[in-house]
Amino acid sequence: MSHSMKKISRFLLIVSFIFTHVLYAKVVFSDHENKYDDFTLTYFIDKSEDKNISEVATMPFSKKLDNAFTLGYTKVPVWFRIDIENKSSKKEEFYLFFERFNMGNFTVYEQKASAWKATEFGWKSYIEQQRSRFQSSPVYALRLKPGESKVLFVRIRTNIGLVGKFIVYADQEKIYSDQRKAFGFYLFVLGGLMMAILINGYLFISLKERIFGYYSAYLIGLVLFIIVYDTLALDFGWVKYYEFLQISGPLSIFFLTLFTKEFLRVRKYAPYLVRPLNIQAYIFAFLVVMMSIAIDSWFEIMGTAAPLAFAILLFTAYKVGYAGLKVAKYYFLLMFVNVLALALMALVYDGTLPYSDIALYSFMPVSFFEAAGFTMLLAGRIKEKSNEVIKVQNELIAEKKENENRLEERVKDRTSELIKLKDEMEYKLQRDALTSLYNRRHLATIVNELTQTQFSVVLIDVDHFKNINDNYGHSIGDKVLVKLAEILTDSIRTVDVAVRYGGEEFMVILPNLPISEAAKIAERIRINVEKSTLKYEDIEIKITISIGVSAKLKNTENIEDVFKKADDKLYEAKRAGRNRVCL
Ligand code: GH3
Ligand code: MG
Ligand code: MG
Repeated sequence: MSHSMKKISRFLLIVSFIFTHVLYAKVVFSDHENKYDDFTLTYFIDKSEDKNISEVATMPFSKKLDNAFTLGYTKVPVWFRIDIENKSSKKEEFYLFFERFNMGNFTVYEQKASAWKATEFGWKSYIEQQRSRFQSSPVYALRLKPGESKVLFVRIRTNIGLVGKFIVYADQEKIYSDQRKAFGFYLFVLGGLMMAILINGYLFISLKERIFGYYSAYLIGLVLFIIVYDTLALDFGWVKYYEFLQISGPLSIFFLTLFTKEFLRVRKYAPYLVRPLNIQAYIFAFLVVMMSIAIDSWFEIMGTAAPLAFAILLFTAYKVGYAGLKVAKYYFLLMFVNVLALALMALVYDGTLPYSDIALYSFMPVSFFEAAGFTMLLAGRIKEKSNEVIKVQNELIAEKKENENRLEERVKDRTSELIKLKDEMEYKLQRDALTSLYNRRHLATIVNELTQTQFSVVLIDVDHFKNINDNYGHSIGDKVLVKLAEILTDSIRTVDVAVRYGGEEFMVILPNLPISEAAKIAERIRINVEKSTLKYEDIEIKITISIGVSAKLKNTENIEDVFKKADDKLYEAKRAGRNRVCL
């Protein structure tokens, strides 16, 4: 075939197609076909809303329509006229099938014996026998002898978009097999969504994380929406709740908004969007309430609000992704495809796009994949969560260890402080504050330790010390005593113990030293004191001391007697003229 021939034949094909559609707005039954799903019919929109069948039957129907059509949101009654001619040789039974006709008011009129017989199919006048499982749409049985023609009128009034498809079957079994296929498709989608609901619901209950609850609630809304949308709800016999179930639309968007807020961590990545999203959630909660009260007035408002809501959700994902949340990319992708599919559906419903199965049904498998995708992403959160828990645990353990170490250190410090303090206290308790020599209290301890040892005692008293105090004052007197203690310490052995015995009286205990040796040391002390001059500023002071010496010779000897003896000897030295040693 040449190129021009091809062109001409295509042209003729198009012309003949238009021509036949203009000429024959009717269904013609033939022998070789059992399903008629491509024909033309005519329709009339009853704006006055007051026409009845006898008026309509005599009116000319001028507007043509494909058997698969959309008229958008008409809201007033629409009349369809279907002209049928049976050109088959033997078929007599036919079935008019209405796909997607989930309308409230839906009446088929057929002339029988010069009267119009009306059959109600709308769910507002639901008749159980007319619908059965695998047959979610009404089926009208028709008898037509070969060679006969017939006119059917269908009156529909609905608040949702007037979208549907008329199909005529010559074989009842074929309707059921087609419907079973559709039912299988719905079951596949719904089954997948139910799985996702179960998984996320379980995670919500076990992990007590809101996000899983929001997501499964959203999916429950979506499942209800699909059940309503594909008229399964009518098959289930939920006729009473059919209208009410339309709230599944705003309900699912309400939960989707809450889910999105959490999933995209909007509070962290785009805090300025928290408020708009909250407002969106409130609006859809409000729509749920309003639609359950007055569906007719709110359905279209919902139809307008929904795309806006999805736009805001996509915008949020875009912003959050830009701010650095990786998972926002996946959200955007999944939600974008979902929105695209929903938009196609909505555009068919408002009459913008022509009737097409892809536009009407693609959102179902899309939502199936969306649910699978989000469920996987959410499962990823569990891992993230457990990592977070482990991280926090490790941090706590480290902190605990650090605290323990710090505590241990503090205890150590405190202990050494206390030991030091104890040592200081013990030192102070044993020592005389002025001269730092042992005090008289400690003398008892020293003597106790020396019960098995022989020792000598040297008792010293400053001569005429009162005069020093009187002449130079008490504080100079103190200084004199300090100086004397120094001389004393320098004059004895390390094993000897010097004690401040009283005001200006001192004692030296000299272990393992016979009295004769002790007397030598006493004499040395006396000389050292006598020789030294104590200088304070321009004052020069010279003192002398008197010394009494005694000794403990036997272990059994009473120490008080030994001290008494030294004191006696000292008194003796004083009486003998002072500045001398007596023993
Ligand atoms: P004697 O030669 O008889 O011992 O004459 P004395 O003046 O030293 O007499 P006595 O030993 O009875 O007097 C001790 C004096 O020492 C009395 C008191 O004023 C003085 N004195 C005692 N303890 C201290 C002290 O801690 N500091 C000072 N500055 N004086 C003291
Ligand atoms: Mg004295
Ligand atoms: Mg004295």
